[in-house]
Amino acid sequence: MEECSALGTVTARSPIVETSPMGAAQRRFANAACVLDSEYDPLALLSGLKRMEREMGRRPGQRWGDRVIDLDIILWSGGRLDARDLTIPHREFRTRDFVLSPAVAIAPNWRDPVTGHTIRQLAVRL
Ligand code: ATP
Ligand code: CA
Ligand code: CA
Repeated sequence: MEECSALGTVTARSPIVETSPMGAAQRRFANAACVLDSEYDPLALLSGLKRMEREMGRRPGQRWGDRVIDLDIILWSGGRLDARDLTIPHREFRTRDFVLSPAVAIAPNWRDPVTGHTIRQLAVRL
């Protein structure tokens, strides 16, 4: 399966995993992960993702329950990255089942450079 987007080629796409409402949010969320083969460096990719969020109707300042889309970078091929506006691996991904469940379907053997665990190991531990 290969799909081209403006940001690169999607080489793997997970099933959509639904979560129940969390906190004050009354809506259910649809979560998914993909592997993107991209020419962009991570900061440029983040700008592209933010632009895509805007194009899909996300407005700044919307709370969790209101927003239509959230596109995050979880891991990349270059290990750790710590910039002012971007931290990879994503700071919270190890504790989020709604991230690990889709991710394990497409990249079980990708390794978290911080803990040394694979996505499958992180998913099992959670
Ligand atoms: P989180 O998932 O971290 O709990 P969020 O996705 O709900 O939070 P947003 O308002 O979408 O929060 O993003 C806040 C900022 O987080 C972004 O503007 C971006 O600069 C920064 N950020 C840091 N690391 C990442 C990452 N790995 N992927 C996406 N955004 C990131
Ligand atoms: Ca997020
Ligand atoms: Ca985000």
